[in-house]
Amino acid sequence: MASERSLYISKSKYLSGLQCPKLLWTHFNNREAIPKPNDTQQHIFDTGHMVGDLAKRLYPGGKEVPMVFQADDAIDLTVTATMDLIKRRIPIFEASFLVDGRYCRVDVLVPVPGPDGDRLSGDTWDLVEVKSSTRVKDININDVAFQHEALTRAGVKLNRLFLMHVDTSYVRGDKFEVERFFHLEDITERVLRLTDYVPSAVTRMFDVISGRDPDTPIGPRCTSPYTCPLKDSCWSVLPDNNVTDFYRAGTRSFGLLDEGIFAIADTPDSKLTPRQVIQKNAVTANEIQVDRAPLRQWLNGLKYPLYHLDFETMNPAVPPLSGMRPYQRIPFQFSLHIQEDPGARPQHVEHLATWDSVPLPGDPRPGLVEALKAIGPDGTVLCWNMGFEKGVLEDLAEMFPTEAERLAGLVERMEDLIIPFRGFWVYHPRQKGNCSLKAVLPALTDFDYDALAIGDGLEAARQYQQALYGNVTVKERSLIFKNLLEYCSLDTMAMVAILSRLQKLAE
Ligand code: SF4
Repeated sequence: MASERSLYISKSKYLSGLQCPKLLWTHFNNREAIPKPNDTQQHIFDTGHMVGDLAKRLYPGGKEVPMVFQADDAIDLTVTATMDLIKRRIPIFEASFLVDGRYCRVDVLVPVPGPDGDRLSGDTWDLVEVKSSTRVKDININDVAFQHEALTRAGVKLNRLFLMHVDTSYVRGDKFEVERFFHLEDITERVLRLTDYVPSAVTRMFDVISGRDPDTPIGPRCTSPYTCPLKDSCWSVLPDNNVTDFYRAGTRSFGLLDEGIFAIADTPDSKLTPRQVIQKNAVTANEIQVDRAPLRQWLNGLKYPLYHLDFETMNPAVPPLSGMRPYQRIPFQFSLHIQEDPGARPQHVEHLATWDSVPLPGDPRPGLVEALKAIGPDGTVLCWNMGFEKGVLEDLAEMFPTEAERLAGLVERMEDLIIPFRGFWVYHPRQKGNCSLKAVLPALTDFDYDALAIGDGLEAARQYQQALYGNVTVKERSLIFKNLLEYCSLDTMAMVAILSRLQKLAE
């Protein structure tokens, strides 16, 4: 049971409680069971903090309520500091309130001027919640509704309620313009619709916290609005090859669980799509399923030399270059394995935009476009889930008109190695309903990503940005670049290995 002293609900816990009673209960009663954020999740949090700091520039004269750590009365100190600033009628960052068991820190409180236009004569405040996302989401409305309730209980008169998010229509000029980077959306009416809901929800949450583990059943809540940090633990009760592993199972798998059907092998075919039936057959027989006719036809359509291509990109919130939008993808690396003939040993070409000096002194794209000339005039350009690579090439064609024809030609020659797997012409039970490269590679070959320092594209982007803009030594930067080269190289080497296996399966 939670101790008396910890019995206040912060807005983050309130949002956890809306997602799942068990998650809320665990936060208060078994905190150690909740895993710490991984590096990629931490990067998302860090981006949020960085965007929050940028927003403060829009409120000159504002003061921040400092967070006090490691003091028994830390919260009391921040609340007292908030009350002092409220009297001064200046913009306040991280204003803190603890009232009736509700605790929140408000991103920005803005004093609304009185009828004479003087902020000192006013007595109301606008509340601004800052997000690094690009639109208003339902969870943001719940977030602000909780804050609205807490502040109203604390006697703060709120005027309008806003969500400030990143404006993706902003195009950076020579200099970054913070005032054009954000979009301020008035969400007052949407929030006020929850006025009656919040207090009853908070009451229910206190009951959950002080009760026994609610043992909430798994369901769609486990991944919405966020993937729950307890998912691995809660879902570990399911057997191997369970119904949540069905290809594109979505919420239907929870219907099967409700009916008492747990294992893929026990699911009646009448409840399955044709692809899921293939998956069930693979699991039941514990062997790979192959439909040779369409596979052979698809393989015969590949034209040599074959160019196995993979890009890595980053999407920084703040556009680092003139002409760029927030979160616009910037390709900085590619790996290319070239096979002259079927089964031939591949030749490797790679490119990674690196500089001796940081932060990023230039645009990685011109060098990358030049290096792509390693792709000759004929032959198939093979990608995995090619929509991504296609999009990168189309962006580059738009950016570099003199190279547009060449780059568009690469798009026209593109073929997607995921097609035999999406079509379930080939399905291995170890894929567990997943057609991603990371799932197919270890299922069909002896390769995997386990030994690499970088294991996915998000981590690659995070580490690249860390190398360019982070506080790293020259040695650390070199190591990141080395790891990036290894990671991207494995992506295209994986495609070579998978293609080779497909060719054998088609024989
Ligand atoms: S994994 Fe699902 S059931 Fe378990 S705590 Fe999270 S949301 Fe609740």
